[in-house]
Amino acid sequence: MNYACLHTHTTFCDGRDTVEGLCQSAWEQGLSILGFSAHAPLPAESGIITQWHLPIDKLEAYIEAVQAAKKAWEGKLAIYLGLEIDYIPGLCGPADRRFDAYNLDYRIGSVHYLSTPDLSHYFTVDGPAAEWEAGVQELFAGDYEAAAHAYWKNVEDMVNAGGLDILGHIDLVKKNQKPWWNDQFPESYRQDVRRVLRALQEKSIVVEVNTGAMNRGTMNETYPSLGILREMRQLSIPVTINADAHSTAHLKGNYDKAIEALKQSGYEEIFNFYKNRKGPSGETHGPSAWIRERLPLE
Ligand SMILES: [Zn+2]
Ligand SMILES: [Zn+2]
Repeated sequence: MNYACLHTHTTFCDGRDTVEGLCQSAWEQGLSILGFSAHAPLPAESGIITQWHLPIDKLEAYIEAVQAAKKAWEGKLAIYLGLEIDYIPGLCGPADRRFDAYNLDYRIGSVHYLSTPDLSHYFTVDGPAAEWEAGVQELFAGDYEAAAHAYWKNVEDMVNAGGLDILGHIDLVKKNQKPWWNDQFPESYRQDVRRVLRALQEKSIVVEVNTGAMNRGTMNETYPSLGILREMRQLSIPVTINADAHSTAHLKGNYDKAIEALKQSGYEEIFNFYKNRKGPSGETHGPSAWIRERLPLE
């Protein structure tokens, strides 16, 4: 089976290693495909300042570095240029045209933020536990289910707006809510998930099985959880495996556990992205243009 990671962060945003260092390590670790997915710069008008997004003035250098790596590694490692783009209602999302000029190979769409409609207040569900607690108090009067509902609504709206090739860490909202780990979430959450999966079914979007939390030791399960994977399998939603790598050590990290979870869910294959492939109807985007990889038996 060919191994790939299309969810990779470098020193251009919040990763620890350089583009070249990650290429070298990916090759040594036997990956066939490496895609870079810097956190896309947020629109300046948002006023949101972070340490983890690619600064807009580094965007060109990031693109040049990845394009140079493509050439340097040609024939050894397929390198792709991507971005992980935040969906924030009324502000930005993977469907935005502002990245069209950069000739991206693919886009990951992710929800990290919950915000008020006027964007005066916001927080990330991906932040430290204290940020989650304070955010749920401030924006949802302490109602965790309401916060989760807002999160899933954002995911659903992002899916419907389109523009993304890969859905990033679909159930990130569980990260700081331990009682919900291992599929122990409330019924309203389950209904929200089902609505999102139904929306996904009609789109050409691949859902990543993301081992990032396992790689960083924050949680012992993938995004999505096993129960969600099972429901996805019922709906034949295509999947790929990504490490959400923030260092060379994360590349391919816990892929064995992702494969195990996929098999337990009934999946027999995943999809790997290769550029310039065409699907049966000539399409260049979506899972039918990707390559099917059967999961290893052992
Ligand atoms: Zn992310
Ligand atoms: Zn990421």
